[in-house]
Amino acid sequence: MPDRLRAMFCDHLSLMRGKYLPASKLKSDATRLARPNFAVHWDKDLLLDAPHTQTREGIPDMELRWAEADIRAGWEPATRVVMGDLFAADGAALPLCPRGALKRAVADWQSQGLSPKVGIELEAYAFVKADDGTLKPLDTPGGIVYGTGPFSDPTGFVDAIWWQADAAGFKLELITAEYDTPQFEFTLCFDTAVKAVDEIVLFRQMAREVALRHGVILTFLPKPIAGKGGSGMHINLSFEAASGGNALNTGAKGGPSALNDLGRGCISGWMQHHKGLAALLAPTSGSYLRLQPASLSGYWCNWGGDHRGVTVRVSEEGGAKARLEHRMADASANPYTAVAAVLQAALLGVKRGYALPEPEAGDCFDRIDAGHGVAASLAEAINDLEADRALCDAVGAALCEHHAFMKRAEVEKTKGLEGRDLTDYYIWYV
Ligand code: GLU
Ligand code: MG
Repeated sequence: MPDRLRAMFCDHLSLMRGKYLPASKLKSDATRLARPNFAVHWDKDLLLDAPHTQTREGIPDMELRWAEADIRAGWEPATRVVMGDLFAADGAALPLCPRGALKRAVADWQSQGLSPKVGIELEAYAFVKADDGTLKPLDTPGGIVYGTGPFSDPTGFVDAIWWQADAAGFKLELITAEYDTPQFEFTLCFDTAVKAVDEIVLFRQMAREVALRHGVILTFLPKPIAGKGGSGMHINLSFEAASGGNALNTGAKGGPSALNDLGRGCISGWMQHHKGLAALLAPTSGSYLRLQPASLSGYWCNWGGDHRGVTVRVSEEGGAKARLEHRMADASANPYTAVAAVLQAALLGVKRGYALPEPEAGDCFDRIDAGHGVAASLAEAINDLEADRALCDAVGAALCEHHAFMKRAEVEKTKGLEGRDLTDYYIWYV
């Protein structure tokens, strides 16, 4: 059977869209799709006034272009996959393209002589269809945190994800059961920023598809089960210096006391833009059920060493492994946009030299130094993003304007939905 190509992009809702194309497309090439895909919402509503989508201008095309070097193994028979970049019909870069925003962020860092390296952790819950057709959490009565084997994975769907990932060439760092049940963590090895995010969006899609074939709906929703822990998408960052080597490496020892100006600058940017980042990193209505005090989730505007109560955790591993972990995002975010936003906020900190608050000294349960957290709702977080002009301009003014428009509509669409109803609204897509 000749190979086919599955060419994809990750859209404003973090949905993977694309086409199957014949083997003749297995080279640097392009395909056209309707630009107002960016006006489509979860419920398939087409928002005619979504900015920069040209929906009222005849629903024109945009172009998805990919590079032959980015074509990689897939997980379906005789199917290779590729992530592409989006361009307007006139050939200009599409300002709404999340992968484009990440490429801009990488280029901005490279103009400082530094190449970002990224490692992403994903958490997810497993659901199955009950006899009455409703969705319920997969039963894992013997599941435990850091659980491995059949008590945590009785149906073997997580095992199937491992072996499929391996066969498709994904570089897994780990898979384990998370704190609550049935919750799992999937972490890929770090790589250059665009490659790492390409891999994570493809892995996430593959994992959901393998799970579905096993009768499991694997959801990356931030808080699908009231009363259980949330699911995050932690972003680990380091930088390769132009001269080679990890630019955060100040010696064998890691942690806050070993930080150099680069590390301190990044953290100062994340603290300064903490509230503004939320709508991009935690962009669905349920995100704010996860981002709460005492939830290990990146709620507070704080940082520290090996402390899971803070938003920015400075790894105590130093040397070549020196890195910073940003813990606010959840995987309902578009990972390209989320990593672009984290990189741009960090770069603002490096360039502007904001004052860096002291590291958190409280336990983040009963005692907390941090003065503020993120907004209490998506609606307020959108206002915080719009108020942060420096962040919007750095990430992309048009992308942020469109994001705010679509997310305000989402607030309206999900108004009054709680608990299971809110989970059900998203679960087939996230
Ligand atoms: N589940 C937590 C979150 O929502 C993170 C737990 C952990 O440290 O792995 O981000
Ligand atoms: Mg985890």
